[in-house]
Amino acid sequence: MAELLMIEQRRGSDDAALWVREGERRLPGRDSNLRLVELGDGLMRHQGVRVEAADAGNDVLEATLRSLHEGIYLDALQGVRSGETVVIAEFAPPGLEPDIPVNAGLVAAAREAARTAITAAQRLAGGAHFAYAVCRPPGHHAGPDWLAGYCYLNSAAAAVQTLCEAGVRPVGILDLDLHYPNGTAALVEPMADVSLHSLHAAPVTNLPPGTFLPRAQGERALAFDGSPDPDAYLEQVAISVAELAAGAEALVVSLGYDTVAGDPHGSWAFGPEVFTEIGRQLASSGLPICVIQEGGYALDSLAACSHAFATGLLDPILAPFSAYGRKRRQQVAR
Ligand SMILES: [Zn+2]
Repeated sequence: MAELLMIEQRRGSDDAALWVREGERRLPGRDSNLRLVELGDGLMRHQGVRVEAADAGNDVLEATLRSLHEGIYLDALQGVRSGETVVIAEFAPPGLEPDIPVNAGLVAAAREAARTAITAAQRLAGGAHFAYAVCRPPGHHAGPDWLAGYCYLNSAAAAVQTLCEAGVRPVGILDLDLHYPNGTAALVEPMADVSLHSLHAAPVTNLPPGTFLPRAQGERALAFDGSPDPDAYLEQVAISVAELAAGAEALVVSLGYDTVAGDPHGSWAFGPEVFTEIGRQLASSGLPICVIQEGGYALDSLAACSHAFATGLLDPILAPFSAYGRKRRQQVAR
């Protein structure tokens, strides 16, 4: 039976998100350790999930972060004293206003999230077929020297870097969060042997207006207006999985559950069953899969989403099929 290694983040305290600005509105922070509890509960309900602690060492964590982010940026984050909450305007994404504050607890949590992602990638490099970093805060909006949208350090890029250094390359990155991964795109652009595909909502708000996508060669950036039909979306996921898998030794999946109905930062209306089909498609690629948790803030749906994903990944034949999955199956059978 297939096995999924769930890598559990070391949890801190006083590290919940405070607020996030969307356009002109300042919204209450929705990212907290409660998300990790729900995500883990959903995964552990599946018998094929084994839990291991994030145990990548401090040296490798530091070296990986230094290889991705600017030293001046990392030093500034580390310099935030406990008890202090600051907005560091100079480290907003180029052309955008700062949208989140920083405090010592959030920086510590972001470091633990990166450690969790690095551990998942290390397990993959060590022979595991499926690993899932249950981590927070998300990371895909964090760039070389910027923070945004709850993200301070880029965990997916840290996983990619870990795989490449271990000789597992080329790597394909599939970002299925609701939002465009502006940080990941900037970080992996100079990396040889790494391609990024993102499926996300239009309009893309985390790039300066007028930015043309895709930005890099080999990048696929597919935006959907409004809440897409799940089958149409899954068809595009399948195209990306096939294209990425054709040129990769492993896939890193930035998985966001903010595409489900009721997400406080979302606008789409997917049900958790979409993630069963995504899991199934990833399993059918035959490649090792390293999942990095990005967004997803509807606390009462997260366990159903992570469980649905594990079901599709681990029981590709037994799990219930969506209309899209049934159609694919008939096509394959013909
Ligand atoms: Zn998101």
